[in-house]
Amino acid sequence: MTVRARFAPSPTGRLHAGNLRTALFNWLFARKNSGKFVLRIEDTDAARSTKAFEQAIIADLKWAGLDWDIGPIRQSERLGVYREAAEKLVERGLAYRCWCSKERLEELKKEQLAKGMAPRYDGRCRSGKTGAAEIQPVIRFLVLDGKISFTDLVHGEMSFDANSFGDFIIIGSDGVAGYNFAVVVDDAEEGITHVIRGDDHLSNTPRQMLLFNAIGAALPRFAHLPLVLGGDKAPLGKRKTWASIEELRRDGFLPLAILNSTVRLGWSPKGGDKLLELLELIEEFDLERLSKSPSVFDIQRLRGYNKEAVGGTSAHALTGILDIKCTDAVFLEKAVEAAKHCAHTLTGLKTAILPLITEPEISIEAAAVLKEPYSKAVLKAAIAALSGTDAIDEAGYKTIIEAIKKTSGENGKRLFSPLRAALTGSLEGMELVKIFSLLRGKKITERLKRRL
Ligand code: GLU
Repeated sequence: MTVRARFAPSPTGRLHAGNLRTALFNWLFARKNSGKFVLRIEDTDAARSTKAFEQAIIADLKWAGLDWDIGPIRQSERLGVYREAAEKLVERGLAYRCWCSKERLEELKKEQLAKGMAPRYDGRCRSGKTGAAEIQPVIRFLVLDGKISFTDLVHGEMSFDANSFGDFIIIGSDGVAGYNFAVVVDDAEEGITHVIRGDDHLSNTPRQMLLFNAIGAALPRFAHLPLVLGGDKAPLGKRKTWASIEELRRDGFLPLAILNSTVRLGWSPKGGDKLLELLELIEEFDLERLSKSPSVFDIQRLRGYNKEAVGGTSAHALTGILDIKCTDAVFLEKAVEAAKHCAHTLTGLKTAILPLITEPEISIEAAAVLKEPYSKAVLKAAIAALSGTDAIDEAGYKTIIEAIKKTSGENGKRLFSPLRAALTGSLEGMELVKIFSLLRGKKITERLKRRL
């Protein structure tokens, strides 16, 4: 059997860590098993789906490095296929046209609720009688009583009572396929062997299983992943921007770090917490170690992975994605190399490097330090110590610092903060020795003089 997995987003919002996790698990599973990965756009809900969301989802997936072998297949382009499949079920007596008006269905629902029953269609049109000409009928799937059971790869044995949902609509009065029907026709046609998706689809599974049987298709295996919660412990939502991939990308997170955080939302590699390369993730991934409880998207953990990922990326590659304007490419790459281990994000990396390239703005905290009398003494001592020096290596730096210490009588924070504040405009950033070596004596002296 060739494994075929799919990611089937509805383009009604942006990709976030929760649905990226679904995409990633399916992708890893397909890649691990040398199978195929299908991208399907579930855009039958014309009122809520947009092309812009579709393009954004595709861009986010590509950016994350998740490629697909088949697709994108758009459900909106396949409405005729679903209608045809539904007609076949009608011909075989497995589905029927229903002419009940909205008003009647409302009334029925009210009565059932009043009797304490779960609302469901009562099967009035099962007899096959046609209704009023002005009504556009829907097509309902005939659900016979009974139990529907399956083994979910996450939750184990599951059992549902068909009686609880009744005959459901597979083609609406507007001729558009219902969600469950379109999914099943597509899964069957695409030969999907494993459906890995959010827990919120668990209740759709018994309906879908009946449909698979009706159209004579093999059942896929199902794995329903517990939802991903945000820092506020509420499920991540498409319409909330929190933890959207776009936002994380803008904030300077690298794909590998995001994938490493995301893959641990409900699955844990044997290797523990260390940052894994994509190939290592593929090698390790399995469906056996999926967790049954909801997981929380932890931004601090992501920052940790990102620091590791930034540190592990070559200065050349980082320079390529940083978008910093600098005429001296060699200098820029050196600065990136020097700063990459101290930054958690690309944004942080940029912030650390910019003061080396352009005259820095002085932060409020740095300005406060520079106002102190001891700072003036340190800067004056530094100017004197640097006299005649341009290139500075580690030994040279130590000699200069010793000289400043001696002349100014300052030590520790009172010695280093004024220098850092004057040179970078900030009280944090990369090590001072690196700043000295990159800026060199002449430029350092110029900057110190300006801050006196
Ligand atoms: N389109 C559905 C969603 O975005 C996914 C359906 C499925 O995976 O079966 O939630």
